[in-house]
Amino acid sequence: MKFILSTAIVFSAAFACTAQKADDVITPAEVSRVLGTLSSDAMEGRRTFTPGIEKAAAFIAEEFKKAGLQPGGTNGSFLQSFSMYQASVAGGTANVDGQTVAITDIICQTTSPKVTVSNTGNYEVVSINAKDNFFAQYRTLRNKTNNLIIFVDTAHRNSFQRLKSFAGGPQFASNNSQVYVLSSQVKPAAFQLDLTMRIEEKKLANVVAVLPGKSKPNEYVIFSGHYDHLGYGKPNEKGDSLYNGANDDASGTTAAILLAKYFKALGNNERTLVFAAFTAEEVGGYGATYFSKQYKPEQVMAMFNIEMIGTDSKWGTNSAYITGYEKSSMGTILEKNLQGTAFKFYPDPYPDQQLFYRSDNATLARLGVPAHTISTSKMDSEPHYHKASDEIGTLDTKNMAEIIRAIALSSRSIVSGTDTPTRVDTQSLR
Ligand SMILES: [Zn+2]
Repeated sequence: MKFILSTAIVFSAAFACTAQKADDVITPAEVSRVLGTLSSDAMEGRRTFTPGIEKAAAFIAEEFKKAGLQPGGTNGSFLQSFSMYQASVAGGTANVDGQTVAITDIICQTTSPKVTVSNTGNYEVVSINAKDNFFAQYRTLRNKTNNLIIFVDTAHRNSFQRLKSFAGGPQFASNNSQVYVLSSQVKPAAFQLDLTMRIEEKKLANVVAVLPGKSKPNEYVIFSGHYDHLGYGKPNEKGDSLYNGANDDASGTTAAILLAKYFKALGNNERTLVFAAFTAEEVGGYGATYFSKQYKPEQVMAMFNIEMIGTDSKWGTNSAYITGYEKSSMGTILEKNLQGTAFKFYPDPYPDQQLFYRSDNATLARLGVPAHTISTSKMDSEPHYHKASDEIGTLDTKNMAEIIRAIALSSRSIVSGTDTPTRVDTQSLR
């Protein structure tokens, strides 16, 4: 009895200390300062590939540095820099069964400056017939890692043009090329393509900070949010054309920064904590995709991705929801750790919106990591979502501080290594 009693006292004393630290470090004033800076006009809406997002990255890196965290990026920097490549066919010749094919009828996904394809077998040949489902085929083929030439029946001309509009977007460096050719002959006997490509390198960066674990340094727990937003866009009725993205997702980025400060101040994490601000979520999730490739999925114990926590949830203050709640035991662990507090986590109330698959948690979740997104966004009635009016004045910074504290407290048994959420069953994912 005595043993149990003293354990209980030690445990609650530890909890009280944890809670006190959260109240000291994660304050509404600090939320306002960080969120206010990230969503200020000076950051120009943090659009990927613009100077505005670089200012935001520098600010986030400085916050991590001031807090005393270790850089988790490239070459001892907080910036995890990487490049993507935008490719378009600049010129060349293409001949299929004696017929010249117009360059405009070719889509070439590659990062090589020159692409030569012929019927000598250097490329696997695929045919998309008139009756095939063009985009279903495309989705399968784009995951292949060998060189492909795909002859597409001219019946798919409209779909081909649509593919051209987005397949020309930025791509990661790769060793293989995929060439789509619009052709009246989808099983040609002889073909020869000599293409010159225009390849434009585009630089991006996540911002990453690390707190090494004391006893389990190779077990990672990730706290993240995306810091990019939409930049300048169509002006609203007030003439405002700057999309500040205070809620989406300066709020989640603010959470990642404040959690970094909190756990550094606490200084007792047994597992290694990684704090990440992702780039390019809005344009394709490239930042999280690149970040995810830097880890062995089996070493990542949990990911807390935080997305739009600036407004009160549908249940009011002191609550938030977890996407993909039923896909791992993480939500149950968080709830257990919040017993006796006023805060409550709920399963995602908008399952039709497929939020689990739509945010930066998805890449790691697909590899089996218990990776979930925490949000309060009312997906059926959030008036400022993807609008120029998504500004700090519309947000509840006091409640935001409560949510960030709740994430801090609810994660403590995962951070200490005493709880490990079950893995996501990748077979169950769509
Ligand atoms: Zn977002």
